[in-house]
Amino acid sequence: MARHLGPRLVQCYHCRHRFEVSSRAQSTSCPGCNKALMVGDEHITKLRGPLKELRTCGRITVSKRGRLIAETIEAHGGIDCQGIIDAKKVLSGTTVTLGPKCDYHGDLTAPAVEMQKGAKVKPSMFAVPSDPLGLTELPEAGESG
Ligand SMILES: [Zn+2]
Repeated sequence: MARHLGPRLVQCYHCRHRFEVSSRAQSTSCPGCNKALMVGDEHITKLRGPLKELRTCGRITVSKRGRLIAETIEAHGGIDCQGIIDAKKVLSGTTVTLGPKCDYHGDLTAPAVEMQKGAKVKPSMFAVPSDPLGLTELPEAGESG
């Protein structure tokens, strides 16, 4: 599959303004509201937090040894949790994957959830609207690798 190197469309998580950024950008500022914006992927490989929020237009992956503690998590590119997520509110623009060793807590809004056998989920509200963030017009995030 060809690697996508052109600009990609992102949506500001502050004001929902949509604009293009370089596919290699990790952060930028939104031309709509001038606030700093994370657009890169976040890889959590150890303890991160407790944070007030972790938001990105990219993807958040939590590895087996990773532990993410945050009040609000927002990842437009989706969330892949193989470790621990402890949150109050989680928003994802695409499918959330909960791996077989994961331990998840947090009210989740995502268009799809893939829960693998063995995943532990503490009581949480799961909402699966078809378009939680108004993001469905965005192209699919490129698969890593
Ligand atoms: Zn904005």
